[in-house]
Amino acid sequence: MRLTLPSILLACTSFTTLAGDGHWEYTGKHGTAHWGEEFALCGNGVNQSPIDISASKTIEADLPSLVINYQESNAISINNGHTIQANIKGNSTFTNDAGTFNLLQFHFHAPSENTINGKHFPLEVHFVHADQDSRLAVIGVMFEEGKKNTELEKIWSDMPESKQSKEQLINALSAAKLLPKEKSYYRFNGSLTTPPCTEGVRWFVLKDTIEASKAQIDKFSKVMGTNTNRPTQPINARIVLQ
Ligand SMILES: [Zn+2]
Repeated sequence: MRLTLPSILLACTSFTTLAGDGHWEYTGKHGTAHWGEEFALCGNGVNQSPIDISASKTIEADLPSLVINYQESNAISINNGHTIQANIKGNSTFTNDAGTFNLLQFHFHAPSENTINGKHFPLEVHFVHADQDSRLAVIGVMFEEGKKNTELEKIWSDMPESKQSKEQLINALSAAKLLPKEKSYYRFNGSLTTPPCTEGVRWFVLKDTIEASKAQIDKFSKVMGTNTNRPTQPINARIVLQ
């Protein structure tokens, strides 16, 4: 399924309501269990994200390297009511056998949305990309609790703490520094993990993790005020390659 860029940006960045009501949350009467009442794919899609990546069910494959070419650039951080998101200026890309994808934005979930062998990580970053035909690809990276992350701190230090907060300009943000050195990955087809849960998203979840301090992880959770992960979804007929 092909998406138009406006629908991608709406899905990823908007906190305004859509036609109809369109309001969603992670908990309560607009929570994850109710998304399908208003957004059909969230309820009846068969290639939904996130998933549990179970090592016993993945298939070994000769996967091509991810060629990630993220440039240091200015970014705008926003609080859209569901996450903290950094909208990227400039020309950061990654390339693999599916083509070349431009980095549009990255944002966070706590705890992680995808799980590995049933395990949640305390924080997950999603790098959202689109190619020139507006096909989407997401690279997911897990954080473990550890050292303070200096690149993350560029966003965290002026974190917009409510969705009424002003956007923050971040100078010289290097998304590449939010990636582990080793970039082997799990690959599968999935969806946006937020309404409208659009499918046709290429997912790449890196096996290696990066670190953030407990204070950094706690700050995000406190600002969001709730867990920001959709529960894992059935794999159905999909396979996960590694
Ligand atoms: Zn996400």
